[in-house]
Amino acid sequence: MEEDDRTIVLRGTGVSPGVATGKAYVFDRLDAQISFYRLEKPALVAREIKRLRAAVKASEEQLKTLKRRLGEVEGVKPVYIIDVHLMLLRDRVFLSTMIDRIRELNVNAEWAVRLAVDKYREVFEKIEDDYLRERFNDIRYAAQMILRNLAGGEQGSIAGAGGDVIVIAADLSPADTAQMMIDRVLGFATDIGSRTSHTAIVARSLEIPAVVGLEKITRVVRTNDTVIVDGSAGLVIVNPEPEVILRYEEKRRLAQDARAECLRYACLPAVTRDGRQVAIGGNIEFVEEIPSALTYGAEGIGLYRTEFIYVNREQLPTEEDHLSNYSRVIGAEGLSWATVRTFDLGGDKFFSNPKLAKEMNPQMGLRAIRFCLKEIDLFKVQLRAILRASALGRTRILFPMISGVEEIRRAKEILEEVRVELEGEGVPLGDRIEVGAMIEVPSAVMIAEALAREVDYFSIGTNDLIQYVLAIDRINERVSYLYEPLHPAVLRMIRHTVEAGHAAGIPVAMCGEMAGDPLYTMVLLGLDLDELSMNPMAIPKVKAVIRETTMADCKGLLEEIMSMSSGVEIRRAVEDTMSRLFPAEFGANGQ
Ligand code: PEP
Ligand code: MG
Repeated sequence: MEEDDRTIVLRGTGVSPGVATGKAYVFDRLDAQISFYRLEKPALVAREIKRLRAAVKASEEQLKTLKRRLGEVEGVKPVYIIDVHLMLLRDRVFLSTMIDRIRELNVNAEWAVRLAVDKYREVFEKIEDDYLRERFNDIRYAAQMILRNLAGGEQGSIAGAGGDVIVIAADLSPADTAQMMIDRVLGFATDIGSRTSHTAIVARSLEIPAVVGLEKITRVVRTNDTVIVDGSAGLVIVNPEPEVILRYEEKRRLAQDARAECLRYACLPAVTRDGRQVAIGGNIEFVEEIPSALTYGAEGIGLYRTEFIYVNREQLPTEEDHLSNYSRVIGAEGLSWATVRTFDLGGDKFFSNPKLAKEMNPQMGLRAIRFCLKEIDLFKVQLRAILRASALGRTRILFPMISGVEEIRRAKEILEEVRVELEGEGVPLGDRIEVGAMIEVPSAVMIAEALAREVDYFSIGTNDLIQYVLAIDRINERVSYLYEPLHPAVLRMIRHTVEAGHAAGIPVAMCGEMAGDPLYTMVLLGLDLDELSMNPMAIPKVKAVIRETTMADCKGLLEEIMSMSSGVEIRRAVEDTMSRLFPAEFGANGQ
């Protein structure tokens, strides 16, 4: 297929699953064409500031209209990111940064927008954490809207696509993505982007197949070319042969059937055919994700990554800010428990805190619980809010990056101080508060017996655990080929943790990405995990595997692979078993 003259296959990152075939619409952005001129007279400065203010206002109005229209579309949940962009457009500091540039440098509004964006870029580029660094894109997207309006508002609008097309772009803002839903765009493909970008998150929540990070798609595709976007495989096929189109049409139909079939599992209990029940949690970053977590069948929240409360803020969140978030999670109807992980910030992730110097290796630096135990006042604000919200339902507090017993003891001491304080103030507290340790540092695995005596449950964070066990930076693409969840060292670590937890009579959950990949579900059942918590969209497939397997089969598979010494061998054995037992899902013709 790749040798064919006309057909081009591009590989990128599939960020929203599904298949779409249609005519391309190449969407041009204004980025490259920002004009520059000096304002020779003071009167021109005032006029330029007025122009800028008008463009900001127009952008705000457009977003408000978009938000209203989205609200009118049946079945669409609120797209919170539009509020973030609205907040940015209303932000005085953002506006005055641009106005100051016009005043100080006597330059036109477009150039001032560009300089302001450059200033923010400098700050954000220093952030190590992928997700937080990418929040710079929100500033960029807001600036692009302003630029679009400075240019008269006509250019570069996604609305020009007219629906039923595959949008091809260098990059897309989340607002563009939301607009695509209104216009019934079939799918999209972009030059840049990653799984954690807001655009990817919005695409997933709107269920538009999408592939990003294709590097050169805007150079390869012309408007009206036929394009297939395979968001599940991360592939884009340009000008495919008719039989390829037919094959993908069949694939799309199968995927649709499989999804409908899968959603049937969403709200069924996760019980194996021989009666073993596993608790299923959803991982969330924002409270707005709770409704979709419920739709996909989350029974509780197994991981709420609270560090996202700190994103896009000038000031640190107050206790009330924390409280309003935790109340919505802990008090949510339909969820049996809520695991609130205390914030995993630190190193240079927490860029706005001048107390923290830039670290050479922030992943192993002053982050998570280490940071909390240094910045106790900050930690206490969060703990007070969690305890106050605990009156609303079953609350599990989870401490991240625990590497030794002192840390968990000290964290519990501080929690106790906060509890006594609140009781003294007469604040009602919940009676179902559990304290857990994340097991994501190898030392924690090795002392799991001791840690188990200190806590009510464990939750294994495989994303970090694997990177530390295998010495692979989880965000470094050059070593990603070594990132193997089925490495025997990783499986042994998980087994040891579960055994230590169970010997002490506490349940063991897993909340890393490994828990949400159905390929591993039988292995994890064999390892006796009590709870699996994952990206909500992964739940139906994982439940389907659980409901159609038996513990006897899972144990058999585990026994077979635990005697093997290489990850490659284990992967082959797991894939063989899964494709034999679930041919539709994992066989050669599976999705
Ligand atoms: C993990 O490390 O597996 C985990 C769930 O936490 P995070 O991805 O937020 O580090
Ligand atoms: Mg982690």
